[in-house]
Amino acid sequence: MRLRSELFILFLIISVVPLSAVVYISYDYGKEAIRESVMYNLLGATDNTGNAIDNWMDARKDDIRVIAQSRVTLASQKEHFKEFLDTFEREHKGAYMEFYLLDLDGNITFSNLDRTGNESEEIYFIEASKGKTYVSDVYQSNITGAPEIIITSPVNKNGDIEAVLAARVSLENLYRIIEKIDIGKSGEVFIVNQNGDIIFHENRSRILLDNIKNNFAVKEVTYEKNGINEYVNYEGKNVLGSYYWMSLYRWGLIAEQNIDEAYAGILMLGRVLVGISILALMGVIFLAVVVSDNITRPVKSLEEGALGMVRGNFRPIPVASRNEIGRLAEIFNSTAVELLEIRKKLESKIELANKDLEKKNKELIDANKELRKLDELKSDFLSLVSHELKTPLSSMKISTEYLESDANIDPAGRKEIHQIILRNIDRQTRLINDILDLSKIEAGKTELKFEIIGIKELADASYENIKQLAKKKNISITLDIQDNLSPIMADREKLIIVLNNLFENAVKFTPDKGSIILSAREDANGITVIMKDTGIGMEKEKIEKIFDKFYQVDGSSRRKTGGCGLGLSISSEIIKAHESVIHVESEFGKGSTFSFKLKKNG
Ligand code: ADP
Repeated sequence: MRLRSELFILFLIISVVPLSAVVYISYDYGKEAIRESVMYNLLGATDNTGNAIDNWMDARKDDIRVIAQSRVTLASQKEHFKEFLDTFEREHKGAYMEFYLLDLDGNITFSNLDRTGNESEEIYFIEASKGKTYVSDVYQSNITGAPEIIITSPVNKNGDIEAVLAARVSLENLYRIIEKIDIGKSGEVFIVNQNGDIIFHENRSRILLDNIKNNFAVKEVTYEKNGINEYVNYEGKNVLGSYYWMSLYRWGLIAEQNIDEAYAGILMLGRVLVGISILALMGVIFLAVVVSDNITRPVKSLEEGALGMVRGNFRPIPVASRNEIGRLAEIFNSTAVELLEIRKKLESKIELANKDLEKKNKELIDANKELRKLDELKSDFLSLVSHELKTPLSSMKISTEYLESDANIDPAGRKEIHQIILRNIDRQTRLINDILDLSKIEAGKTELKFEIIGIKELADASYENIKQLAKKKNISITLDIQDNLSPIMADREKLIIVLNNLFENAVKFTPDKGSIILSAREDANGITVIMKDTGIGMEKEKIEKIFDKFYQVDGSSRRKTGGCGLGLSISSEIIKAHESVIHVESEFGKGSTFSFKLKKNG
């Protein structure tokens, strides 16, 4: 994986893990806080409702108690009492439906509605006749059809209970108070009696007609428990409900709120946190990209620089900062420059070494070629030498055997045979001398004896050696050499060998009646010696080979003209030893010219 990706992932992990933890913890705490606050509010609403009920009921009970204690004396003057009660009823805006007095047998002795009857069996009468102010269960009035309660209180006279005052109290006013308490949009407050009958609901048609004792909160509250809980209510809705048992009236007060609405804050908190997390994640990704980019950019430059260095096209990398990476880049740049210098030096050295190697290789190839050539020459040489030696030896053997076998050979014949033998001995001697001379010269073992000599003198000496042979072939030899030529510094014996060779070849390869001219020309640099004949000449491509050992243009010339192809090799080596070369010009069928230049003395 690339460094940039690794850093990116690392930053992401470093940031996302704590971020997730913070978001999770915040959500958890927030959720709890919201839950607590919702419960607190619901409990508050329940409390408020309970208080409102208590206040209202206390006021009613107080009303009845006060009337029972202080006003019932007016009963003797019934008209006044009735008037008072009517006024009281009006003042309390429909709260009191009826006031009536019961004697201790339960007979209604007075009613402001002029009602009669006996209520001795009713618990509210029994309890009040024992001295208690009592609140009855809620019932539906058979007069108004509305829910009512009866509050009873004992009427005392001189410390004894003389009668019971009862008041039918409409709950409508209480309901209105309860309805005004804010319990949220989906909030629902209802009151049940201990049988689970609804005795208050905003939907009045349900009052005393609906029994919901299976509702969880109703069960709890009718067991006289108080609390708050989440449960599925009688309508199958998930709710948060708070319940409160009002033991004085045997009422269960229940406030329910739809869970979704109650905990809407938690949902909102979740959404807000998800939003914040997405924003934070985007921020973290952006930062991770920027930071990993900033860190890897100089490292990437270093990598590119290093690659450039390897490929030989190094460009200094930018130093973007003064931190460790910046310093590393500086060190890298200076090291790269040094390395490139060293590389250049090494390259030029290698180039030189290569050239040297190439040269040496070429020399080796040449030397090898030379060796092979020498090897071939050696083989040629051996076969030639053995041939050249064998031929005269056979001739000599035949001649000697003949001399021995026939004693009657005449003296002239015997002399001729002796001469044949002698000629062969000469030929062999010459061949062996030639070979020895050449090998000595080539091996540098022949020391030249330089002396001051005149060309004319040398030419004359050589001419003397050849003239008989030329005469035999009717070839004319002309010496075109002036007497007053400057002397030269040369080895006399060796130069005579050269001139003899050139003369011998000229005679050998010039047909009868031809001509040979040996001339010498002097200039500022030296004296050029020229041997020109009108002989058979040579083809151009053969000219350069004639200085090779044992080379003969015409292989059969050995038989015809003698010689073994060493003369020009020897001559060439001698002239080289005089720091000069032999030049040849020749035209096939017309003649050849051999020349060389020698330094003048001094
Ligand atoms: P050799 O004369 O013993 O054969 P050389 O080395 O003197 O050997 O000469 C080599 C060859 O060069 C001869 O065999 C001949 O073919 C050729 N050559 C030399 N001189 C002449 C010449 N003057 N005219 C024509 N051919 C020549």
